[in-house]
Amino acid sequence: QPSGPTSGTARSASLFERAQAVTPGGVNSPVRAFNAVGGTPRFIRSARGAWLTDVDGNEYVDLICSWGPMLLGHGHPEVQAAVAAAVARGTSYGTPTEPEVELAEEIVARTPVDRVRFVSSGTEATMSAIRLARGFTGRDVVLKFAGCYHGHVDSLLASAGSGLATFAVPGTPGVPESSTALTLVLPYNDRAAVEKAFAEHGERIACLITEAAPGNMGVVPPEPGFNAFLAETCARHGALFISDEVMTGFRAGRLGQWGLDGAREGWRPDLMTFGKVMGGGFPAAAFGGRADVMSRLAPEGPVYQAGTLSGNPIATTAGLTTLRLATDEVYAHIDAAGETIKAAAAAALSEAGVPHVVQSTGTMFSVFFTDPADGPVRDFADASRTDSIAFAAFFHAMLDRRVYLPPSAYEAWFLSSAHDDRAVQTVLDALPEAAEAAARA
Ligand code: PMP
Repeated sequence: QPSGPTSGTARSASLFERAQAVTPGGVNSPVRAFNAVGGTPRFIRSARGAWLTDVDGNEYVDLICSWGPMLLGHGHPEVQAAVAAAVARGTSYGTPTEPEVELAEEIVARTPVDRVRFVSSGTEATMSAIRLARGFTGRDVVLKFAGCYHGHVDSLLASAGSGLATFAVPGTPGVPESSTALTLVLPYNDRAAVEKAFAEHGERIACLITEAAPGNMGVVPPEPGFNAFLAETCARHGALFISDEVMTGFRAGRLGQWGLDGAREGWRPDLMTFGKVMGGGFPAAAFGGRADVMSRLAPEGPVYQAGTLSGNPIATTAGLTTLRLATDEVYAHIDAAGETIKAAAAAALSEAGVPHVVQSTGTMFSVFFTDPADGPVRDFADASRTDSIAFAAFFHAMLDRRVYLPPSAYEAWFLSSAHDDRAVQTVLDALPEAAEAAARA
């Protein structure tokens, strides 16, 4: 059983040095590096339930959960068994298979989409959904919100231009201006900005894409009725409403964020994107939606989209098994563990005098190191007020006490059904001293 401070990081440090020689930044996805918090990322050797074990033998409570997918924790025996059986039958055929039909049926049953197409990453899902929306509408402009991340799609790696409802500038070198010139970036939760964009460009707008509830600037819940307003506004202007549930899907609740608003309010997105949980820890993602829109996809329709490993039998088996095991009890457990951790984090930070704001949507939550006097975090400008120095100190103090948080102040803290009392207690025990460290930073 883990106890006391960690036993050094020599092997992680040495692997990180080797990694940096052969891979930019030593990582295959930027936020895994500790650029935002400083220090050496831990190289994980194995994981079980709620726990990660690094190459030096340190154990950590995992609050990353692979950035969302591991809803049932690591190495769930039924998922492992289903994957092992699938591997024994071969790993990829490049032909249709039964598990992909079953997974598609499961997603269609649990979400408002009529049909889905599988891809291998959330990025591919949003990229393809946008192509389909443009192909379906014959229009070219895309609306997105600042602070919403939809993967590294060229046209979506855009920052806001100089004013509201002006076209965007590339958010990274390597994306030509022509790729973002058709993207409008608006402040989240801002109805007036959406109205203005449609008033000025309505006839050119193919789609509006939004995170169903943003989780990539920390958790910023849509204000009541905001998603319904977006769906209604898009419909009024003949644009498609794309709800990106790559992060929230099958995680914010059993029916994702849509279960928290659309299902109750009686509306549905035209297109949705999914990833993470639906792949059960394997590369699988999907986009889906209205039957008439989806039928425009090749080979039924003219909009081209494809993938060698799309619907891979191992990934779809892992996803299907995960979704079938993701019962109401799983979400209730994650919710309860989250409530306990949220309350303890707020208490510890208050006790230490560290300004903070805790926000959630369904079972997803995050802790902002912002001043509550400034109000809730409603958009990217609010989230940007985060005290990243305080967060870095907090992060490292938690890590030293065996809690591996996402190494960024702008992330949800992910839990799983495997986060039992021992794992939660480890987090609770670490919080007071981590809050003190944040106060000193
Ligand atoms: N959309 C959302 C809402 C996401 O959170 C992410 C990834 N964090 C993506 C899209 C991109 O998914 P992927 O990393 O699988 O390309």
